[in-house]
Amino acid sequence: MDAVPGVHLRVGQLHSMMTPPPPSDEATRKRSASDFVFGKVIGEGSFSTVYLAKDIHTNKEFAIKVLEKRHMIREKKMEYVLREKKVLQILSGCPNYFVKLYCTFQDTERLYFVLTYAKNGELLSFLNKKGLWNIECTKYYATELVLALEELKFKEIVHRDLKPENILFDENWHILLIDFGSAKIVSSNEDKIENEDETKKRKNSFVGTAQYVSPELLKNTETGYASDLWALGCIIYQMVSGLHPFHAGSEYLIFQKILKLEYEFPENFDKTAKDLVEKLLVLNPDKRLGATDIKPYSSIRQHEFFSDIDWDNIGPPPKFIPSSPGSSNTLDKDNKIPDHLEPGLNAEKASRLQLDMLCRPTNNTPTRKKSEGSRNVTSLESSEIERRLELQKLDKWHNLVEGNLILKQGLVDKRKGLFARRRMLLLTFGPNLYYVDPATMVLKGKIPWSAELRTEPKNFKIFFVHTPNRTYYLEDPEGYALEWCKAIDEVHAYYYSRPVLP
Ligand code: ATP
Repeated sequence: MDAVPGVHLRVGQLHSMMTPPPPSDEATRKRSASDFVFGKVIGEGSFSTVYLAKDIHTNKEFAIKVLEKRHMIREKKMEYVLREKKVLQILSGCPNYFVKLYCTFQDTERLYFVLTYAKNGELLSFLNKKGLWNIECTKYYATELVLALEELKFKEIVHRDLKPENILFDENWHILLIDFGSAKIVSSNEDKIENEDETKKRKNSFVGTAQYVSPELLKNTETGYASDLWALGCIIYQMVSGLHPFHAGSEYLIFQKILKLEYEFPENFDKTAKDLVEKLLVLNPDKRLGATDIKPYSSIRQHEFFSDIDWDNIGPPPKFIPSSPGSSNTLDKDNKIPDHLEPGLNAEKASRLQLDMLCRPTNNTPTRKKSEGSRNVTSLESSEIERRLELQKLDKWHNLVEGNLILKQGLVDKRKGLFARRRMLLLTFGPNLYYVDPATMVLKGKIPWSAELRTEPKNFKIFFVHTPNRTYYLEDPEGYALEWCKAIDEVHAYYYSRPVLP
């Protein structure tokens, strides 16, 4: 345990918490990384890397979530890990809708969670597939979500970070909820104290996807089961329309809209779904549909949107799975573990697999925390650009970007020689990359654009922007270097690689 200098006590605490859960049928002895072959990175979170792995004894595939102890301790995220483990253990008896925790173990540097492998990826990647996802799919998966929320309520757990990225599909296309690091165990006193602190932290340094956050969480009041009902409303809205109910150019503006319940429905939005969403997206948590049900969530079950659902036997999932080559059902074929790999995971192998992931030509590995501004940055309609610009006028960065629409923003450390300075990096139409001193709000400069500008991700945190006369060394402390590179590349392609019209 002494491998992490200066943090012996903390690691000791982790050690005691990371003992495995009661053995399941096939895991009767303590496992270690050398019992698994690690195939490839299938996901990355703020604090973790998730690998597809195969048990060398049973050949069974798992998703193994790996957390670097140093990182967890440095970022003070240990309670997330411990809470996630606790919640997954509570849910381990539930046969449906939740990823199962088979065992946990650790080595000197990492913690490992061995989980059900959700073979068919994230719900999010299917929502915008026109012609595939329809109201029948929405109804079916909204039903599964309600059943999952009923189970969570029964187990006295609030997920608190429900969003399409955290809803995965198993091999039979049923949902599996993941990511319980922010969950609240309502009955646990210890957890109440822990979670109040957490709420304060969340408010001050919000991380994650802003679009699904409930107003009570933003107002710093107590969050409860109804916060998940709010998220359910947002997800149903998104399943029906492919859009977020609350969208704006920055997280700050999204929060303002949430607090004012400022959202609209597209014209052809299904009528009964609209009524359901309106009854879930209610500012007062107690007034949300289902919030005061004696038998949860009977009032949601009775809503007209679900009138043709047999809640005791919801039947097989609808067929919406794409079948053309290159579409998402190739995910599983792409995810085969090569036979020649040695079991175990060390630093060298972990960085090789992560680099493989960064360099994969069609990178379909889900990554975290895509900000509103960075999604399809260049595919906005002109009316949407105007609307966003109007809203942006309220934003404190607006005056620094010469009236250009901000597509992505975030704090980075800009390194020059030995020194690094914290800067707000603002990617805008134009194209421009402005960097601002966030303490003084002074514009310090712009990275000059040209056709030669090129990005280079070095790892999850560090990325370079090469220009003919200088390379800018940038570090995203949150670890979203890849997302920065993608957004910059997209803007670059938009301005420099569009076909020239005759
Ligand atoms: P966050 O930044 O939300 O806190 P995290 O570090 O808790 O993230 P997860 O959300 O648990 O990490 O996992 C990161 C990604 O890895 C997920 O978005 C998902 O795409 C993938 N993933 C996680 N668990 C599984 C699983 N059991 N099967 C397949 N993919 C998974």
